[in-house]
Amino acid sequence: MRVGSFQAPVAVAWQLTNLCDLSCRHCLNDSGPGGGHSSELSRAEVLRVSREIAACQVPYVLFCGGEPMLSPHFWAAAEALGKAGVWLKVETNGQRLDPASARRLAKLPIRSVQVSLDGVTQEAYESLRPGAELSAALEACRFVRRAGMPLEIAFVPTRANIHEAPEVIETALELGAFRFNTGTLIRRGRAAEAWADLSVTQEASRTLLATLTARETSLAGRLELCFRPFSFEEQVRAEATEPSGTLTVLPDGRVRLSSASDSICADLRTHTLLEAWRAYVRASVNGTRSEKPAGLCLGPATRS
Ligand code: SF4
Repeated sequence: MRVGSFQAPVAVAWQLTNLCDLSCRHCLNDSGPGGGHSSELSRAEVLRVSREIAACQVPYVLFCGGEPMLSPHFWAAAEALGKAGVWLKVETNGQRLDPASARRLAKLPIRSVQVSLDGVTQEAYESLRPGAELSAALEACRFVRRAGMPLEIAFVPTRANIHEAPEVIETALELGAFRFNTGTLIRRGRAAEAWADLSVTQEASRTLLATLTARETSLAGRLELCFRPFSFEEQVRAEATEPSGTLTVLPDGRVRLSSASDSICADLRTHTLLEAWRAYVRASVNGTRSEKPAGLCLGPATRS
């Protein structure tokens, strides 16, 4: 496995907080206004981990959550990493991303900002994200582009919105996104609780896959459709064959083997980043990532 020859992680996917301003029905992390527990890493710990990431020359950090920008440590971590030249991706629901935040982000080495767009109608969008405004998410996309940052769109297909997927792709194009991320729903957290209402039929899933495959060529060079691996099973197989080299860090500092896995290989409260990396490589090489899948997973993308 290639990761065995790497001295440090290829990337860190950092779930900074479980706090969120929304309580989406399809949230796989049970995030919400009640999240952000006292067990989450403190500012001093977040800054220490940021310094270690920089010292190990990890090239890329992806902030997710919860809503990562609601973490009281978001700007401290992003600016410390940015100052060290680490490329950043921020995954946001876009509900509170205003022009000032976009301009502040744009001063950092931002590889992309990913906004979740689960529909083109308020009805479909709000049926998954109660109380949320589609117009705010769309405005956030425009602020990102106006600030000169690359934009990605994430779309989670459920029974409530899968029919709007083709229009979301067109909207992503209009907004100037360079990538559209999707894949099957993860059966975890609140998504598992609402599975009977949210899960799509195999036929609907096959139709979406066929649409994506058909549009892929015609959109080449304008919008990358990122949907492979599509199903959770495909993702688990891909990870088992070739681990991504990405450390998935939870709000309390524990390190997961992958976003598709529930297995913990280290804890950044008690391990250094390099110790966590070595534990990840050992677990990957020894095949201890063969635990049972937690559910269906969103392909190559994470989501907010
Ligand atoms: S899906 Fe994203 S925006 Fe919605 S509650 Fe979960 S973390 Fe928040």
